[in-house]
Amino acid sequence: MMYATREEMIENQLKARGIKDSRVLDAMWNVDRSLFIPDDVKPHTYDDGPLPIGRGQTISQPYIVAYMAQILNISPDDKILEIGTGCGYNAAVLARLARHVYSIEIIEWLAETAKGNLEKAGVTNVSIKQDDGYKGWPEKAPFDGVMLTAAPPFIPSPLKEQLKICGRLIAPIGITNQRLVLIERKSENEFSREDLILVSFVPMRGEAEK
Ligand code: SAH
Repeated sequence: MMYATREEMIENQLKARGIKDSRVLDAMWNVDRSLFIPDDVKPHTYDDGPLPIGRGQTISQPYIVAYMAQILNISPDDKILEIGTGCGYNAAVLARLARHVYSIEIIEWLAETAKGNLEKAGVTNVSIKQDDGYKGWPEKAPFDGVMLTAAPPFIPSPLKEQLKICGRLIAPIGITNQRLVLIERKSENEFSREDLILVSFVPMRGEAEK
């Protein structure tokens, strides 16, 4: 099999499948994915799928990162919350689209790895903490956008409550078959919900499993 290049990732995996937001394409072009993966998988940097980053964890497929970012419709002034930092790749993409990204990772070594990766990549507008993302980051709320990259069986209510009015949340929901769901806060107590594509993420650990 042939390894994909960054150009091929943009053309064949993103543009050909409907990613057309120029800010998202720019962000995907500019973030060097190789900085976020272990040496032994580096030849696969721009392959069309998730990659293993050690101890059963993965870095998301480029298309899914771009798709979720495009749906969130991020503006340059936005404050975004990400649940599931992993290696920090998605956070680095979001950081090029938003003013600031807050990201929560439940596994300590990954939170530390992500901090190191983001520093190597020269990203300065991402804050990471090690915690269960179920309860969000109330001290930094409200957020213009919330993105979950681990799948809970239902949307944790604290995350909905930390959205601004008109804010959007995107999350993979479900146990075996997951669907991406887009929630928009219409008013203090009203939320709309739209079901999107089927996806496959690692399950959300901690409080969401109870
Ligand atoms: N955003 C990553 C994808 C990470 S995979 C990327 O850029 O590729 C999902 C991550 O969610 C894993 O690192 C996992 O440890 C983390 N996770 C699982 N449950 C969590 C929880 N309750 N709170 C925060 N992070 C969680």
